[in-house]
Amino acid sequence: MKKGFALLELLVVVSFFALIGSAVYVFVIAPPKTTTSISERPSREERTLPLEPVVPPPPTTSPPTVLPPAQPKPPPMSPPQSAEPSPPPTQPPPSAPSPSLPLPPSDSNAGVYSGFFGFPEKFFTDSVVPKEQMVKVADTQYQSLKKMHNGNAPYSFARIEYDPPVYGTTLPNGIKLGDAAFPGLNTGHPRWEVMAHEQGHNFFGGTSVWYNTLGVPGPFLQESLAVLSAFYTYHNILEDKQVFGIDEKTIESLNYDFTNGRNYQKSQYELYLSQGKKFDDQNTLTSQALDYKMIEYGEKHGWQNYTKLAKAFENGIASQFIFQQDGVSAVERSTYIIAALGIAFNKDFRGDFQLLSFPIDDTLYNEIYSKIIEYTK
Ligand SMILES: [Zn+2]
Repeated sequence: MKKGFALLELLVVVSFFALIGSAVYVFVIAPPKTTTSISERPSREERTLPLEPVVPPPPTTSPPTVLPPAQPKPPPMSPPQSAEPSPPPTQPPPSAPSPSLPLPPSDSNAGVYSGFFGFPEKFFTDSVVPKEQMVKVADTQYQSLKKMHNGNAPYSFARIEYDPPVYGTTLPNGIKLGDAAFPGLNTGHPRWEVMAHEQGHNFFGGTSVWYNTLGVPGPFLQESLAVLSAFYTYHNILEDKQVFGIDEKTIESLNYDFTNGRNYQKSQYELYLSQGKKFDDQNTLTSQALDYKMIEYGEKHGWQNYTKLAKAFENGIASQFIFQQDGVSAVERSTYIIAALGIAFNKDFRGDFQLLSFPIDDTLYNEIYSKIIEYTK
């Protein structure tokens, strides 16, 4: 396995970052203020999201679908960034800032694992939590995702760059946030979920070709795993808030943003049910039904189990399978994630997902199950 790894790793990076410009199903994330906009929104609008092409696309992007009505509608997002592997950060990450030592403004926007670049001061002054805590949360999101991925990471430092017209999107070496993601439009709360969601895409897509094989095209795995990543960071931070140095006011802000996010996923799950449970791996609503189940499993059985789920999407396991050789079908995608969840939690969730009309191939389930369990031992 090790021999081909350097090449494989290069392939991962190149292919992921070739795709990354289009990997922006950003707007499956919760709007905060009202739920009426959600329930009134026809599912058709969700379907207007372009599907992920397998080849690098021209620079087209989708408009947001779930921004609250009060927010300005961001224009189409900027073109994909360079498909080159990510360069190192232009400045080395500084060591943890000492509170007693005033740092120059640019450095005070950066922590050990991530930093904000190019943002107007309003981005920080709008926030109910101080800048220093915003940087800490960004750092802990990075650390949490690295933990979820068993030490794998697409880069050692996440740049969070300001790009006015975007809401949130990925960069080869981090993410971008724009004016629509300012805390002032979220009653003073930074868009924690958007930040973690976008990096969630990077941690899966930037570390594994196998994830791309399984997840692309369509939102089903790409979006659900990004939503899951965001909630994983939230619960990991709650668990270790003292270690991370996250204060209570910041925890309250995280609670606010992720409670809204959870309510949104729940409402979409209920919409999936009320619309007749029409499984469609190319439809965001189906991925949101999966989101909500995964949030429930984390809450009920423990978020730490998701490190095992992440392992099921690592490159190391890819060579054991052949079902993907003729392309990955909807039933294969569905069966894979349900088997991976089963292993993560040591439970059989097939009944739960049959109730949601998710297709499952039992023979393939058994094969996937036994191979992942061997791999994750
Ligand atoms: Zn997304």
